[in-house]
Amino acid sequence: MADQPFHISGFGSAAIHSGHKPNDAYAHLVPIYATSTYVYDSAEQGMRRFKGEEEGYIYSRWGNPTFTEAVEKIAALEAFGLTDTETGQPLSVKGFLHSSGMAAITNLLLSVLKKGETVLSHYSLYGGTQELMDNTLPGLGIEVVITDLRDLNRAEEALRANPSIKLMYLETPANPTMQCVDIAALAALAKRYDCLVACDNTFATPYLQQPFRLGADFIVHSTTKFLNGHGTSIGGILLGRDTALMRGPVAKMYKLLGGNSNPFDAFLLINGLKTLELRMDRHCDNAESVAHFLGAHPSVASVNFTGLHSHSEHAIAVRQMKRHGGMLSFELTGGLKAGVSCIDRLKMCTRTVSLGTCDSLLSHPASMTHFGVPAEQRKKYGITDGLIRMSVGIENVQDILADLEQALKS
Ligand code: PLP
Repeated sequence: MADQPFHISGFGSAAIHSGHKPNDAYAHLVPIYATSTYVYDSAEQGMRRFKGEEEGYIYSRWGNPTFTEAVEKIAALEAFGLTDTETGQPLSVKGFLHSSGMAAITNLLLSVLKKGETVLSHYSLYGGTQELMDNTLPGLGIEVVITDLRDLNRAEEALRANPSIKLMYLETPANPTMQCVDIAALAALAKRYDCLVACDNTFATPYLQQPFRLGADFIVHSTTKFLNGHGTSIGGILLGRDTALMRGPVAKMYKLLGGNSNPFDAFLLINGLKTLELRMDRHCDNAESVAHFLGAHPSVASVNFTGLHSHSEHAIAVRQMKRHGGMLSFELTGGLKAGVSCIDRLKMCTRTVSLGTCDSLLSHPASMTHFGVPAEQRKKYGITDGLIRMSVGIENVQDILADLEQALKS
């Protein structure tokens, strides 16, 4: 019957259809709304919109219909299959689309934390996030406590010793060591200390891991990576389950910082998202093969991949992730020198930073993504000088393995 809502039961279908609204001109896909501002039928309507008495777009720094489709799609995937424990209704999530993952993370930190408050985080974070915590937040009077959150006792010690901790910031699996933290256990602990929990879900994507299911309050993504999937735009999203907080201080900060996305990048993101499930399954298959190949190779000293039983947080990853994703890192027996020449000899895989694209990408974190993190800190966090990070792509796996095999020949 036409008036009966259709219930989408598959994640892949939700990735294609969620967030899409029929268009007045019958366009199949959402248009790229290249407009800075929006008109009103009357001055009174303009006033109502500014006062928040009427829903509607006002100015594209605040919101844009192309952003809305991307936000609603990602929100639907992060909340897929989840219900609000209080209302029993499907979980409602609000979000804002940003110009980059860093803009989304900055918006989160600045809207949730005030001067005199503290953020608790794990070591081994994306280099930019780490620098923001080390160099920017303390200057604003926001303290940062970094500890090994894989150890729940240490997490509790930190919370007990610092009542000013208002936010626990997680990234799991973490860039580039693939260390994992137990989101559910840390979220339960944080709740006891009245502390909010945010999780960077960039490496896993909602197809493999849903932090809201595990108790997180906020999720951030660099949409630049697997969500876009094709390396065609930089972007970030901040999602929150507390709609009052999202409509209040988070929305205010979003509008003031001006770190909004743009309609063209949002359009590219929407199209990439539609194939997320297919791509992620292939990324996972290929990464498993590459991890086993590297693990058995005589030139390889160690492999960090959550799918290997040897990975220190394999059990946590199995508990909270559906599969192990497309990211891994490895160290060659010949250290930095061998790593550099391996990267130089690649013929098909691409020498570059970033991740989550169709092609396989290899980079050297110590000199690239984590260059801004002091050497001593890098060492402590497991980012050794010889570590190579690989984003395993969706090429035919025999070609990826053949390229690695020839590059590893000394
Ligand atoms: N979070 C993670 C895990 C990342 O890997 C990155 C970038 O590599 C970011 C956040 C920052 O995202 P962006 O480069 O889109 O600002």
